[in-house]
Formats: sequence, structure tokens, C-alpha cells
Amino acid sequence: MLRIVLMGPPGAGKGTQAQRLVDRFGLTHLSSGDIFRAEKASGSELGQKLSEYMASGALVPDDMVVEIMAKAIAESGSAKGLMLDGFPRTVAQAEALDETLKTKGMPLDAVVVIRADDDALVERITGRRHAPSTGRVYHVTFMPPKTPGVDDETGESLVQREDDKEEVVRDRLKAYKEQTEPVIEYYRRQGAAQVLEINGMQSPDEVTEDLVEALNSLQNG
Ligand code: AMP
Repeated sequence: MLRIVLMGPPGAGKGTQAQRLVDRFGLTHLSSGDIFRAEKASGSELGQKLSEYMASGALVPDDMVVEIMAKAIAESGSAKGLMLDGFPRTVAQAEALDETLKTKGMPLDAVVVIRADDDALVERITGRRHAPSTGRVYHVTFMPPKTPGVDDETGESLVQREDDKEEVVRDRLKAYKEQTEPVIEYYRRQGAAQVLEINGMQSPDEVTEDLVEALNSLQNG
């Protein structure tokens, strides 16, 4: 049983790596960003509210986040473990998460942080495009489609996530530095879960290797 929080600034490759780790270790994957986007896509009133914060690059208020994520954790069940991705993003969220996990007897094993430089992050994110119907992700420079702007399989036009636009990205990075980096310090001080840092300025496969090694040693240790 492995319970981890995966952290890293926007563009650090968290989404790709999370998917690989989930496949490899059989963890239940709870991504707050994905959960919020699904809520938005459902057209609910809550989804509408969430999308207003998300489109601006600001964080969703803690009470809304905590309520949605506590429900998702309660509904998730996996014998193999849990990976929280994108949550907690503030110290208040981390404190609320501690309470939730404590009452369930589900302590965290580790907080895994993928690190990368700001300039690299901006280039990675602003070049991202995806196919709306399948969610397939490309990058204009690093992983271009066969024909620019068009999905290889469906032929539909690729789009940029509203919050992947440069001005919004800068705000997201600022939010990460101001609100999320203190969460790493919070876990360090607390000392219950290990804090593991991974170098995100490597190829995706190299980052995966480092992550797998870190999780294997957690599982075996
Ligand atoms: P992500 O896909 O993780 O980058 O999340 C996209 C957007 O959802 C963020 O820019 C925030 O507006 C919002 N969001 C996701 N997770 C959280 C969280 N834990 N706390 C506050 N806002 C969040």
C-alpha cells in the first residue's frame, strides 16, 4: 500500500508522470485539476464556479477544494494505494487533508516533488495543445502532430487550454511559488511523510526512472 502526493509546478510533467506511475503501481489517481475539469464539463453550477477560477489561473478557494477532494478520497478504493495529484496546493488544504486521512487511518508515505526551471516550464506549457474529443496531448515543438494544428487520428483542430496561455501561466507559477511551495516546507517540518525531490529537467523517460526508483524504495523500505 503506497500513499503519495505528487507535486510540481505547472509544466513539470506531472500529468504524464502520474499516468505512468498509476499504470505501473496500480494506484488510484486523484487529480484535482482533472476532477474540476470533469465537473465543469458536466455543466453543473459548481463546475461553472470552478471554471471561473481556473480560467484566470487563480487557485480555487480552499473550502471548495477540500470538500470536493475529501469526497473523491472517500469514494476511491484501491488495495494498492493512492496518488494525489495537484492537491494539496496550500498549507490549509494540507492541514485539512491530514485530518481526512487521519480519521480514515490512511497516513501518507511520501510527498514527491518534481522540480524544474521557470523558463522551461513556460515554454513547455504555452506550446501544449490537445484534441478536444480524445484529450490527446501534443506540443508544438517537443511533440508536434503530423500536420500542424490537427489531431493525427481524428483530424480535428487542436486547441490550447485557456489556462495554458502565457499570461495565465505566469500567474499559475506565481501561485505555485507563493502558495504551494510552503506546502513542501509544511511536510518537511511535520516529518511524518518523506519528502522526495526529483529532477524534472530531464527527458520524460529519465524522470520516470527516477520516480520509479523512489517509489520502489518506498515500497520496499
Ligand atoms: P491543474 O490541472 O492541476 O494545473 O489545475 C488546473 C486549475 O485548477 C488550477 O490552475 C487551479 O485553478 C485549479 N486547481 C486544481 N487543483 C487545485 C487545488 N488543489 N487548489 C486550488 N485550485 C486548484
